[in-house]
Amino acid sequence: MSNERKKLSPAQELALISQVNRVCPLDAEPLFYKTGTRSFKNYEIAHIYPLNPTSNEESLLEKEERLGLDVNDEDNLIPLCTTCHTKFDKPRTVEGYQELVAIKKKAIERSSQEELWKTNPIKESILEIVSAIYADADEGIEAEITFNSMKVDEKLNDTISKPTRRKIKNNVTAYYTFIREKLVLLDKAGDCTSEIISNQIKGFYLIQKGNGVGQQAAFDNIVKWLNAKTKAESNDAAEIITSFFIQNCEVFE
Ligand SMILES: [Zn+2]
Repeated sequence: MSNERKKLSPAQELALISQVNRVCPLDAEPLFYKTGTRSFKNYEIAHIYPLNPTSNEESLLEKEERLGLDVNDEDNLIPLCTTCHTKFDKPRTVEGYQELVAIKKKAIERSSQEELWKTNPIKESILEIVSAIYADADEGIEAEITFNSMKVDEKLNDTISKPTRRKIKNNVTAYYTFIREKLVLLDKAGDCTSEIISNQIKGFYLIQKGNGVGQQAAFDNIVKWLNAKTKAESNDAAEIITSFFIQNCEVFE
């Protein structure tokens, strides 16, 4: 008996498309094209594990990881541009299958992070620190922390890339004192602001830790969350703030 392709609701299809950021995850081809004022589809929804595998495909993928509860589960579906879809299906290879499984797992992980943004607030006064970073954090704040920043080095492990490690250390050296002063100012305005912000950031980090993600992914996820929450003009402020809290032991305790 063969499996039938399940018709997706518009919301399901939209969720799958936004999960891959509207581009084909295999060759970055846009999933829509525009003619005149109208957009048209340039994609097909592919089954990662085939909807109706041939006996050859069955044995080929026998030992491979499967995503989703059944072949029509959203976790087993991914939009591909039409060219890549054809290439992926014919002929199916183990390497091609593994590549798409890995891409889809990352996409699922990204979506679950976005879910966390909703349930993990950050105190609004952090916006004052963010604007201060862009407005006036450029001079006269370096060096004091040099000795102390060794602490960062001890805490970071091999799951963090060398450029990120360097970035964190540079951020701590350049901005630690600056951020600390801003937090003190916020506290003077009342209501334990710095403690609340620290706890919120620590809480978000602990969720990452609980999910078993490595330091690099945890750092990236905290930065994305802070950036989404503060709607900053770039990732810089979120990276600087996250670096501060690494040095301060809320993150990577
Ligand atoms: Zn493609």
